[in-house]
Amino acid sequence: MATQTASAAQTHQQLFIGGAWGEAASGARFNDQNPFTGEVIGTVAAGTREDARRAVEAAASAFSAWSRTPPAVRQRIFLDAATILERRRDEVVGLLARETGCTFGFAMFQMGFVPGLFRQAAGLAYAPLGQVLPSDNPGTFAMGIRRPVGVVAAIAPWNAALILSARSIAAPLVAGNTVVLKPSQDSPFVGGLLWAQIFAEAGLPDGVLNVVTHAAGDGSTIGDEFAENPKVRRINFTGSSSTGRRIAEAAGRNLKRVVLELGGHNPLLVLRDADIDYAVNAAAFGAYLHQGQICMSTRRIIVEAPIAEEFSTRLAAKVAGLKMGDPLEMDTIIGPLINQAAFDVVSSRVSDAVKGGARLLAGGTWNGLVYAATLLADVPESSDLARHETFGPVAALEVVANEDDGVVRANASAYGLSAGIITGDPDKGLALADRIEAGIIHVNDQTVADEPQMPFGGVKDSGWGRFGGSAALDEFTELKWVTVQSGSHPFPF
Ligand code: NAD
Repeated sequence: MATQTASAAQTHQQLFIGGAWGEAASGARFNDQNPFTGEVIGTVAAGTREDARRAVEAAASAFSAWSRTPPAVRQRIFLDAATILERRRDEVVGLLARETGCTFGFAMFQMGFVPGLFRQAAGLAYAPLGQVLPSDNPGTFAMGIRRPVGVVAAIAPWNAALILSARSIAAPLVAGNTVVLKPSQDSPFVGGLLWAQIFAEAGLPDGVLNVVTHAAGDGSTIGDEFAENPKVRRINFTGSSSTGRRIAEAAGRNLKRVVLELGGHNPLLVLRDADIDYAVNAAAFGAYLHQGQICMSTRRIIVEAPIAEEFSTRLAAKVAGLKMGDPLEMDTIIGPLINQAAFDVVSSRVSDAVKGGARLLAGGTWNGLVYAATLLADVPESSDLARHETFGPVAALEVVANEDDGVVRANASAYGLSAGIITGDPDKGLALADRIEAGIIHVNDQTVADEPQMPFGGVKDSGWGRFGGSAALDEFTELKWVTVQSGSHPFPF
């Protein structure tokens, strides 16, 4: 298998198709930019639909052999990939900062998560893939057998680039599928080509994993290829709800199943019996980790009236003290937003909300693409900030009279990804959790958490399907009903 040894993105990076590194068919390249400094850290091949088609062909050719690979081989490849990634830890942490503006703490979280994801995937190679089913027909032995689906297209975002791209390929590959990964134009290396390097070194056969990078604006035609090419049997998409809707529409027209992991507008309920110090720390972590660029970020903090004043004063003071600046400095909490377009959305939504009557309790300032941690109260119900996910370090505080009103407000959203409930009474928290419309709910914790084996996904506009452990195996396998008759049985004619 061909290898590319350049370890970082300072050089030119090529597409990885059929086990070979190469330029895009058009020969075009694009710049990979550091969002904090604006520096060009490398150039990357700008793939198009034609390259995506070649990658699907390569994946389709590799499928038959890979789907029959013994579990021991798949397990060994995933274990080796985990070890190789850990060996490259310092380089990858630096690249996460330089390519995606990721602060040290969140980069280390990603670096801890992904080796665990790969080691658990290694275990899944031996997961039972079927059941014996009782039949009412004498002499019939019936089974439900899970088989890989074929080529899986994986579309990943930039925001937790390492975790989300790794998650998009791990379960599909270990279940015996072949994959074409399309990373975001904002994370072509740490969200894509890195995996081509690591899995090639781990011995993954040619064509089993293919990576097609592309410049801004070309994601949709590559997505169209995935939706329309009959050799692609599943698409998994992690990204915004608006893009997910487009992909679901295109996939639906082609009767293709998709897994959609989309945006969130996640509520944190702080009840009157909460430990206020703990609640303040939880809310700040949930809202501002990775400068609020996490699908699970706490966006709406809903607090019961009796503790509202004390809680909001303490939270505002904490938020105002969060250090902003260079993500390469280890104590930076708030690094840059990913690009100018993201910055413009955040700043215009905050200023519109303030014009509409919202009160700024902290933040609202910026330096370059670094937008300060911002806390607002009295955000008008009709504002974009109140209605939509705003992917940055901005949270809205709201006061409710009691916990029932809190549940109503928590559910007053088109989204349903993650929620948190902070209370001194875990039993009450559990009862409330049952009433909240979200795919993920944490009692006595904020909204941001992930472990590779947990069923991860949302309801409503936050998506369909689940990643994580055996839930992901179900998404990327097809259940076949197979019977064997012992002897013959009578037919009516
Ligand atoms: P995005 O929707 O802009 O892009 C996501 C991916 O889709 C990128 O690779 C992009 O190039 C690609 N893309 C864009 N248009 C496409 C099209 N028409 N067809 C095919 N692909 C297309 O999202 P983003 O800004 O990269 O990521 C942030 C969003 O992702 C936020 O909304 C966040 O909440 C969400 N997200 C969800 C989860 C989850 O697990 N639920 C995790 C992380 C991020």
